[in-house]
Amino acid sequence: MQNFTTNAINLKSYNLSETDKIVVMYSKDKGIIKGVAKGAKKTTSKLGGRMDMLIANRLLLHQGKSLNTICQAQALNTFKNTRSDMDKLFYSIYCSEIVNSFGVENDPNSEEIYELFYKTLDSISKAENKVSLMLSVIKFQLKMMHIAGYSLELETCACCGGSLDKENIYFSAQNGGTVCKECRNHSLRTVKLHYKIRDFLNTLLQLDFDAKSRYDELATQKICDLCFGLLSQYVQQFSPKKIKSGQILEITR
Ligand SMILES: [Zn+2]
Repeated sequence: MQNFTTNAINLKSYNLSETDKIVVMYSKDKGIIKGVAKGAKKTTSKLGGRMDMLIANRLLLHQGKSLNTICQAQALNTFKNTRSDMDKLFYSIYCSEIVNSFGVENDPNSEEIYELFYKTLDSISKAENKVSLMLSVIKFQLKMMHIAGYSLELETCACCGGSLDKENIYFSAQNGGTVCKECRNHSLRTVKLHYKIRDFLNTLLQLDFDAKSRYDELATQKICDLCFGLLSQYVQQFSPKKIKSGQILEITR
């Protein structure tokens, strides 16, 4: 059995014994991985707080038959401003649940997902206000769904493929994005979407995560709340696992 190194972000952990825990992580090279953190529950552990949730580490792992053992961990980012801010913490947990749901072991998209997840957690941690925090989460939702193969349709009707009339655009999570007036009549739970909101989402989907657009300045709390709600409905529609924090955020928004 061999050793390997990778960068990974801790998603969750559970107890293995009185002193050891198993940490579930999303890694840059192998997607979801699990590793035994020996002695991690002891205060004197050499792995220390690096095995806590939402920490990015450079790891050295020993590959076992069924489980990896974490030999060394060097913290790359603890996203420290997130740890003292309830909003930042909740939205970061929400993103990590999505990664844990759509991510798989030996994920062919691991590098792309890892980079997106890392950038999202970093920008949430550094966000100076709620709007910029939510913009990061909205971009994450759009791009994560794209990578996972469920890219949102925002240019034509997701049902009939027809073009959309600017004044009559509707959103249907069930149908995978925007729908036209006719298709709306046989879709469930549609919401009328102002074309400017559609343009806003479409721009964020097309641009790189770090790219700035005029929408960064135009975005308001109300617009962000609306978009977050639509996207969280969309994510949950296709998610293999239930996103528990999504429901909490829906209620508390
Ligand atoms: Zn249609």
